Amino acid sequence: MTCNSAPVNLADALRAATARLASTSETPRLDAELLMGRVLGIGRQALLLASPDTEAPSAFETLLARREAGEPVAYLVGRRGFWTIDLEVGPGALIPRPDSETLIEAALDHFGAAGPAEILDLGCGPGTLLLAALDQWPAARGIGIDASEAALAYARRNAERLGLADRCELRIGDWSEGIDARYDLVLCNPPYVEAEAELGPGVREWEPHSALFAGADGLTEYRRLAPSLPRLLAPGGIACVEVGAGQDEAVMALFEAAGLRASRRRDLAGRYRCVILTT
Ligand code: GLN
Repeated sequence: MTCNSAPVNLADALRAATARLASTSETPRLDAELLMGRVLGIGRQALLLASPDTEAPSAFETLLARREAGEPVAYLVGRRGFWTIDLEVGPGALIPRPDSETLIEAALDHFGAAGPAEILDLGCGPGTLLLAALDQWPAARGIGIDASEAALAYARRNAERLGLADRCELRIGDWSEGIDARYDLVLCNPPYVEAEAELGPGVREWEPHSALFAGADGLTEYRRLAPSLPRLLAPGGIACVEVGAGQDEAVMALFEAAGLRASRRRDLAGRYRCVILTT
């Protein structure tokens, strides 16, 4: 017989949680530690140093049950690291993926330490690419556009918390409609998932569909973006656009047809993840 209200120490709680998450998650122990760190209000490193006899807070069970139901860890802990920054995320915000760091790497290769002066992030979500770029280049300024008020609310809080709000403007919009300036760096991680694609666990169920899906072939938004991109690039500027696995050739062709020169860059898994465009 078990008694749910009996105090459980950290070590036992983490062991039991890991077993419970084994069928939901590919990283059950890590998930359990991140959730425990969240309820204890300490980082995972500090958790690993905590006495195993520390009592597990009862709030752990609530988060664990939500994780068991498939909710992403990033939403449960409310944060996800990206490049050099930590972003607040939750329902309504696309969770930053390490793959997207490929776009920052490409921009860093192009601009070096001097960096771009003016940055435009089309579809900025919770501020992932724009805020990482502003953190990378302390003299840069930027504007982030998104069609989702919910995502922009995260972006605004992230900009404030990271001390970057005075160097960026965040506004609602339909891609570059109404924008007439030119930018040294255009960043864009558009929705590119095919409507029927199989996604990782929890993605389709929890993350905002407007940030993921782009028609039957996943290319709808690139077709909408391509014609306006040339007029957004300053002389010597580049656009770094994220693509899904296997979309690089088709996306390069779309932007080349709009008069741009295209190259591409691989992510850490060796897949072409970033299309780089110049005038
Ligand atoms: N990379 C994300 C995924 O496959 C999709 C992000 C996007 O559509 N921009 O889960």
